[in-house]
Amino acid sequence: MKSSSISGLLASDFHLGSGIMRMNSSLICVPLVSKSVDEMLIGMVQAKDSGADVIELRIDYLESLRPRSDLEILLRDKPLPVLVTYRPKWEGGQYEGDEQKRLDALRLAMELGADYIDVELKVAHEFMSSISGNKPEKFKVIVSSHNYQSTPSAEEIGNLVATIQATGADIVKIATYAVDITDVARMFQVLVHCQVPIIGLVMSERGAISRLLCPKFGGYLTFGSVSAGKESAPGQPTIKDLLDLYNLKNIGADTKVFGLIGKPVGHSKSPLLHNAAFRSVGFNAVYVPLLVDDLANFLKVYSAPDFAGFSCTMPHKETAVQCCDEVDPIAKSIGAVNTIIRRPSDGKLIGYNTDYIGAISAIEDGIRGSHNTGINATGSPLAGKLFVVIGAGGAGKALAFGAKAKGAKVVIANRTYDRARELADLVGGDAISLAELESFHPANGMILANTTSMGMHPNIDGTPISKQALSFYSVVFDAVYIPKVTRLLREAEESGVSTVSGVEMFIRQAMGQFELFTGMPAPEKHMREIVARYV
Ligand code: NAP
Repeated sequence: MKSSSISGLLASDFHLGSGIMRMNSSLICVPLVSKSVDEMLIGMVQAKDSGADVIELRIDYLESLRPRSDLEILLRDKPLPVLVTYRPKWEGGQYEGDEQKRLDALRLAMELGADYIDVELKVAHEFMSSISGNKPEKFKVIVSSHNYQSTPSAEEIGNLVATIQATGADIVKIATYAVDITDVARMFQVLVHCQVPIIGLVMSERGAISRLLCPKFGGYLTFGSVSAGKESAPGQPTIKDLLDLYNLKNIGADTKVFGLIGKPVGHSKSPLLHNAAFRSVGFNAVYVPLLVDDLANFLKVYSAPDFAGFSCTMPHKETAVQCCDEVDPIAKSIGAVNTIIRRPSDGKLIGYNTDYIGAISAIEDGIRGSHNTGINATGSPLAGKLFVVIGAGGAGKALAFGAKAKGAKVVIANRTYDRARELADLVGGDAISLAELESFHPANGMILANTTSMGMHPNIDGTPISKQALSFYSVVFDAVYIPKVTRLLREAEESGVSTVSGVEMFIRQAMGQFELFTGMPAPEKHMREIVARYV
């Protein structure tokens, strides 16, 4: 296990599936970190109701533990298999008392019917010999090791597995810390080769995929908190997200992985939208957030065919152009890639920009007065039109190059005039200042596209152009999509001008990504419903 990439490993160990969803045997464990026995009892019922397979009682969190009476109460009518953990401070837990009393409580838990107990590697030999000959038949000991600073090499993790196994552990648990998302690849490498049941998790937001992809790599168990704020370790998702958002029960070795590469990524609704879309068409894939610091290194390490495609957001859209083997010509002109596909035939990375396709097709349909997506329509209604773009940033470039490709004459208006000039030169158009925009009216039937963040929540009173000047246009588009109806769109409607919302661009760029990811038509109705509900 010397390689730091999982490419060769995954290519040989996993074959791409037939698209049929299938179950896995990884368990979902809800850790309970309540301060009182009563709260823990309530949590046990909640854990069962939320779909857990196992409940972990973190008894080190109880404010005062009376081992015999409390464990009797907790284990008497357990609604699910129970794992008892009494984690000491020296291994990252809450318990600070006498070590013998701690181990006595764990033995007691075993005698009172716990299904699993977790014991730390440092005391595992001593503990295992103390229960030798008394172990109930189905009872299992998890021997655990925690590293809260880093993730060692795959070789070192492999050696740790062997050391833990040598204690007589039924299940190996290794938790490390992700400084970079590529650290997780080493844990995956170990998981997939491990011959014994293993829980291998990498803590922190950068390690989140170790939890979400646990079933793909054959992990024995993954943890999901009963609700947000009740996590027992950094980066732990809720059980609701594991089951409903990531569809964890249907992730298998052949499930393809897609994801949103960005920094930050936690706020994004893309996992919600893409996972629901995959599910609705029975596509065997999962879409996960990928908190990436170094895009080139991420793509190098996760080079297996099963890491099949990515959405790209801030701050990686520009770097992505350099990281792809081939880039769609317009995406190259824009200088931004928001979708990366790994071509199955040769593993090459192909970059696209569905932002411009989404925005331009929405505007074309706005001009036609239709609600069809029209992504493949030929004979653009933009041809020959004067297309005014406000803004010269990422979205501005996408709209400007997209409109030019459709045969429009492009004019750029921007707060920083020099940037407007630069972009105008690139698209063979004109540049004007925001002040000039107010009286700019060289032709009838002009199209206006706002690509600045003016009017975006929470500054919803902002607008890039006066209401009077809007009457020069036949269609007004706003890239801002929160709120759905911005001040700009409202004033355009009040002036009798047709409008196209940024929500339409958002939906269509995601539909474009879905089609590139799956090779299937996007489930438009379903995706629109999800966006209407959550965005
Ligand atoms: P960006 O690269 O940072 O560019 C921002 C642009 O807005 C620049 O031209 C900037 O002008 C201008 N600007 C910012 N604040 C301004 C202000 N107070 N007054 C006048 N101009 C101002 O950002 P971006 O990635 O292009 O995103 C721009 C907007 O598009 C955001 O609201 C984003 O949410 C939206 N967007 C929507 C979608 C969608 O799917 N609907 C997709 C992508 C982006 P200077 O050059 O003078 O700084």
